[in-house]
This record gives sequence, structure tokens and C-alpha cells, in this order.
Amino acid sequence: MLENDMDFFCPYCDSPQSIRLDVSGGTRQSFVSDCEVCCQPILIRAEFDADSLVNFSTEKENE
Ligand SMILES: [Zn+2]
Repeated sequence: MLENDMDFFCPYCDSPQSIRLDVSGGTRQSFVSDCEVCCQPILIRAEFDADSLVNFSTEKENE
């Protein structure tokens, strides 16, 4: 499996979000995704072991 859909809640407004992670982008990834509701930048970190997701976290980018 090369793609993982991940559900999480926006750290600003707590609205449910979904993002597609691409494992081929590397075993450790961090990127910013804007919330679909409040449009604030969410810093997302994802870590993979082989082809499975082992760590996922979100936080406010500007705090
Ligand atoms: Zn939000």
C-alpha cells in the first residue's frame, strides 16, 4: 500500500479533516496543510516504517 488516508482534527477549530499521505515521499515527512474550514496552516508530521504509518501528529504551525 503506497497511500494512506488519515483522519484528524484541526488543532485550531477541531473540525474533522482528511489527508492522503504518500509513502513514496519518504519515511519522515512534514508539511503544512491548510484547514478546509478555518484555513489556518496545520503542521503535519508523518513517519513510516517500510510501507506502514507508524507515527502521525498535527500541530499549529504558528504558535
Ligand atoms: Zn480549522
